[in-house]
Amino acid sequence: MLSRLLSPGYRIVAVTTALAILLLATLGHEPWIRQGIIIGLVVAAGLLIIQIRRREQELQRAEQRLRDAVESLPGGFMLFDADDRLIYANHADSGVPPVGSDFARVGDTFETILRRTIAAGRIPEAVADPDGWVAARLRRHRTEAGNTLLKVGGRVVEVIERPTQEGGVVTLRFDVTERERVFEAERLARAAADAANRAKSDFLSRMSHELRPPLNAIIGFAQILGRDRPGTLTPDQKEHGELILKSGQHLLNLVNEVLDLSGIEAGRLKLSPERVAVADVVSLAMATMRPVAAKAGVTLTSGSDEAGDVRADLQRLRQVLLNLLSNAIKYNRRGGRVTITASPSGSTRVRISVVDTGIGIAPGHQTQLFEPFQRLGAEHSNVEGVGIGLALSKKLVEAMDGEIGYATTPGEGSTFWVDLPTETDSAAPDAAASLPEPALAKAGGYSVLYVEDNPTNLRLMEHLLKELPGVALFSAPSGALGIDLAVAHRPDIIVLDLNLPGMSGYEVLKRLKALKETRDTPVIALTAAAMPADINRGTEAGFFRYLTKPLDVGTFLAAIDAALAETQLQRTAGTVRL
Ligand code: ADP
Repeated sequence: MLSRLLSPGYRIVAVTTALAILLLATLGHEPWIRQGIIIGLVVAAGLLIIQIRRREQELQRAEQRLRDAVESLPGGFMLFDADDRLIYANHADSGVPPVGSDFARVGDTFETILRRTIAAGRIPEAVADPDGWVAARLRRHRTEAGNTLLKVGGRVVEVIERPTQEGGVVTLRFDVTERERVFEAERLARAAADAANRAKSDFLSRMSHELRPPLNAIIGFAQILGRDRPGTLTPDQKEHGELILKSGQHLLNLVNEVLDLSGIEAGRLKLSPERVAVADVVSLAMATMRPVAAKAGVTLTSGSDEAGDVRADLQRLRQVLLNLLSNAIKYNRRGGRVTITASPSGSTRVRISVVDTGIGIAPGHQTQLFEPFQRLGAEHSNVEGVGIGLALSKKLVEAMDGEIGYATTPGEGSTFWVDLPTETDSAAPDAAASLPEPALAKAGGYSVLYVEDNPTNLRLMEHLLKELPGVALFSAPSGALGIDLAVAHRPDIIVLDLNLPGMSGYEVLKRLKALKETRDTPVIALTAAAMPADINRGTEAGFFRYLTKPLDVGTFLAAIDAALAETQLQRTAGTVRL
């Protein structure tokens, strides 16, 4: 009000009037002056009226603009005062039930409007308990500034309510049927995609399981061929054996990666995070890849080793680093260089980088870099690969709370980096799990019972143990027979397949542990069930070791060695006790 009185028009009129009164008081006795003053006053009043008119018109125009805006809203609008009475409602109610101008008159309370609308059957969900529904709706209307979805005769209406400054409420209603339909379609599509993904993962996982037993035979026999005494094989035969072994191992890697990827996608990845010394895992990966680099004519070097410890799954981190190093070597050139460095990245992370001087990655290919089965043109080259490594590495790194990234210049080289959380636990680092030389296993002079129904796997074991002096091998094709033989012959070690006819390997283990003749005999599981969950179950069940097919001779001998050492320890303890 005050600001309006101070506006220029009012000020002119006010000053003119004040001046006229002053002149009238001092010089009012002269008629011509009086007339002049009166004319002045009339002019001032006229000016005032014009000013007021103009103001009113302006206000009307502003109000009209506001009404136009509210009327052109694609939904219903209602404004309630502090007493919850309707001040204004727009007319865009036809498309947005339930409330419309038929049910809402200016001055009605919100409750009256609600009840009238319910009585007209416009809110089906309120019909069963109108009072309860109204009470709940009023509570929301008065106390919550929120959004409500109402289903009205096949349509979905979103009601948005907000408090106004003077204590009232503004209510907006929009027909969101189409939007909700799209959401629902997206949700169904996502669910279908998830189901398809799960089916794909299951299929891949089953396929990979099926591939493992024959691979076991291929790799195992090829390893035995490689170990043959000098002179028994011609150089050609030896080379063929090596090729079989190499291809078998390549296939095994592929199967393992597919299994891993499908396992992760199906949410089955189980990690064992522990304190990992970055320098150790880096030098381990370097040692593994050095021969590969030498063969490719690439120099492999490492940078700083002051990065400290990270929290990670050792095997998985090693797998990621081997993959990055292998790529850096594969997609390099003869005479090229690969450098692996590790350094703190901020105070909570460590960055391991693999830098190469290779071919780099074209900008057009980079978006698909971490997509499974994408080789980005490498499929036309003679570089071996299937395009899973980076996709798997990304998932593994992310599962370890880390991040993976890259920088690349086509023709100059690439850097792939992995950031992992620094280990904050102050506990002592775990002892490095390196396999000792299996001296006891190789020395021979012990007996092994192998419970296995697959004759090829059995032959493989026979060949393997035949090489060791004085190792007696008994075998049984079923669990029941295996238990009988174990009781009768009391072998030093039992090797047990888990997928046996009649009785599962877990049941066999349980029975062996219940018998006094066999309860202390170490039982090594040798199985194709290689998912992390299977391994956890096996370890928890009480197997001395849980080994997966295809059999790795080194790991197998290390397990035999550890079992023999354990048996010796038990016997010594028993002697001391006696
Ligand atoms: P693979 O090597 O089996 O094809 P990856 O998933 O490890 O599969 O890599 C996917 C693709 O990314 C490769 O086929 C290659 O085209 C590209 N790539 C990966 N690492 C590098 C690198 N260090 N330099 C150049 N290209 C690379």
